[in-house]
Amino acid sequence: MSRKYKVLGLLGDGIASEIITEGLKVLKAAEGMYGFGLEVLGPYPVGAKYWVDHDLKRGWPEELTKEMFYEADAIFKGPTGLPDLVGKLPGYYTPINMRTELDLYANIRPCRLRPGVKSVLAGRKAGDIDFIVLRENTEHMYVNIGGMMRRGGETELAIDNYVQTKKGCERIIRYGFELARSGEYKGHPGAPLDMKRRLTCSCKWGLTKGDDLFKETYDRIAPENPDVERDATWIDSWSYYAIMRPSFYDIVVMPNQYGDIMSDMSGALQGSLGLAGSINAGDTRCFAEVTHGSAPDIAGRGISNPISMVLSMGMMLNWLGLKRGDDRLRAAWRGIDTAVDSVLGGGTVRTPDLGGSDNTKAIGDAIAKAVGKKE
Ligand code: NAD
Repeated sequence: MSRKYKVLGLLGDGIASEIITEGLKVLKAAEGMYGFGLEVLGPYPVGAKYWVDHDLKRGWPEELTKEMFYEADAIFKGPTGLPDLVGKLPGYYTPINMRTELDLYANIRPCRLRPGVKSVLAGRKAGDIDFIVLRENTEHMYVNIGGMMRRGGETELAIDNYVQTKKGCERIIRYGFELARSGEYKGHPGAPLDMKRRLTCSCKWGLTKGDDLFKETYDRIAPENPDVERDATWIDSWSYYAIMRPSFYDIVVMPNQYGDIMSDMSGALQGSLGLAGSINAGDTRCFAEVTHGSAPDIAGRGISNPISMVLSMGMMLNWLGLKRGDDRLRAAWRGIDTAVDSVLGGGTVRTPDLGGSDNTKAIGDAIAKAVGKKE
């Protein structure tokens, strides 16, 4: 019998435990259906609430060690942070630190309008929108090289540094071409408009040096990929075009902070942030993490949409399947993706963010049941 894959789980704040419970339920169904095994470590409580509950001394339990992050085959994490504690979370594992520490340079955030989901844009139907925001995940405005100047007890000056490196630009842009070529994590390869494989580069070249480097790198690498159509749009224009002609886009690669913002906008384009799955991927490690935050406005009511976490965990399986050459994991991802479509398309269960009145558990149950059915 093949070994079980070790998956480290981290809970987070707000709705994290609700959506992770349902995600794990779906993973269990997929294990049974596709014949692979997972050993789930935890999920361990981490984040702002744990930190506050422990007198602001520890944000994670003693038994959760740094080595565990390196020993795991993959990791999943719920959203962390509460509005009053923004920017104050302790520890190496907090979202931004962990992405850098584990060198998870590619944040893959698919945006697909799925069956049964009403578009916020007039006249768009399922499949008309199917692109990926590919966000560079370790550089740009979030490198945390900066500081504050305090005088007489007042903060008078704050400096952030915007960093782009040749290595950082190259590897994310190459990854973008690979994604366009493979069509991984999308409904179909190519853009819905014309089925062309296309890599759009979006940033603010001409205005910041870092973005000049990003765009120059794209221009240099693009000719090596003649099978993928070139496209470049300034990031401010892209925020317009994404809404006006979303079907044109296939893979859109952008520096870190732009990707952070644009992927939340993409959450709206797919009908709800509650559908926005995502993984942070590197060459040897990956952690599944939804696009959205801890949703404190609905936490504890059992009405959050768990599909974002279900899809993130499914994408994590696919990443692992690709890295370990295990087709069972790849098939499980396709099975989960299809099950989500069938539940949404069926239209009988849906959470309030999609106009329904069902609870988080009902959606998890329905997807787990659909995963367990033969196609
Ligand atoms: P949010 O993403 O938590 O919520 C924005 C809106 O989307 C809210 O109306 C919320 O109810 C809704 N929403 C989000 N997920 C949903 C789901 N699964 N189902 C249904 N509705 C959903 O953004 P926010 O309120 O600005 O942030 C809350 C906290 O989350 C902040 O402390 C922030 O720092 C943190 N945060 C963490 C991460 C992370 O851990 N990666 C990312 C973003 C924000």
